[in-house]
Amino acid sequence: MKNTDWFSKDAISDRLTRICEPHVHKFFRANMFHVVGRDADLVIDFGMGLANLRSELHIPSGKPVFAVATHVHVDHIGSFHEFETRLGHEAEAEAFARMPDADTLADYFRTQSDALTATPPTGMTPEAYKIPPAPLTTILAENDVIDIGDASYTVLHLPGHSPGSIGLLDQKTGTFFSGDAIYQGGLVDDLPGCDRGVYRETMARLSDLDVHVVHGGHGAEFGRSRMQEIARDYLDATATGK
Ligand SMILES: [Zn+2]
Ligand SMILES: [Zn+2]
Repeated sequence: MKNTDWFSKDAISDRLTRICEPHVHKFFRANMFHVVGRDADLVIDFGMGLANLRSELHIPSGKPVFAVATHVHVDHIGSFHEFETRLGHEAEAEAFARMPDADTLADYFRTQSDALTATPPTGMTPEAYKIPPAPLTTILAENDVIDIGDASYTVLHLPGHSPGSIGLLDQKTGTFFSGDAIYQGGLVDDLPGCDRGVYRETMARLSDLDVHVVHGGHGAEFGRSRMQEIARDYLDATATGK
């Protein structure tokens, strides 16, 4: 398959595109986002790395690009190494530098049946799958701000799904990129690196967060009331004694 055909793209607005890998098993089919800014572009999450992502974004040469990984899981960081300026949370900095299976959970992909429905441009097979290391060039922490000129994004540390999970919130418009901390569909809190108690604190925070639209790590976007509903459902389902 040609590199260009590997990705699907949805224009959410004239500035925001959601990118996906339709030939990847749904468990590993994550959202990537490209925000076109005035002074710099923002790319959030990087899929499986089975094709070259950067060349498909058509970013003018010389324009700065902030590549932000919401967390170090395999379905979000495959093409992270293609970008020069790489940002992620301090809790996963070591993992980005080495990409060990214990943190990326890439072994789950290698053994997934029907992992791919087409041969990727790189020719990579699931059995031989490897993630190139992508050391962070900027280490993020809660409250850091990423400024692309006409918009800025505040980093929210949202651990529980993974130790270094982050979200990016444009406080002016309420646009929220939530990674795998919250999305519509089955949330994951039972893999190595997950922490249910910590995840509950994140959900309590999210249930109070003022947002307009949420773009999650998987699935379609949703609004504030739906986010509150998902967060409350999680808190109910994991309450002590249940
Ligand atoms: Zn994840
Ligand atoms: Zn994911």
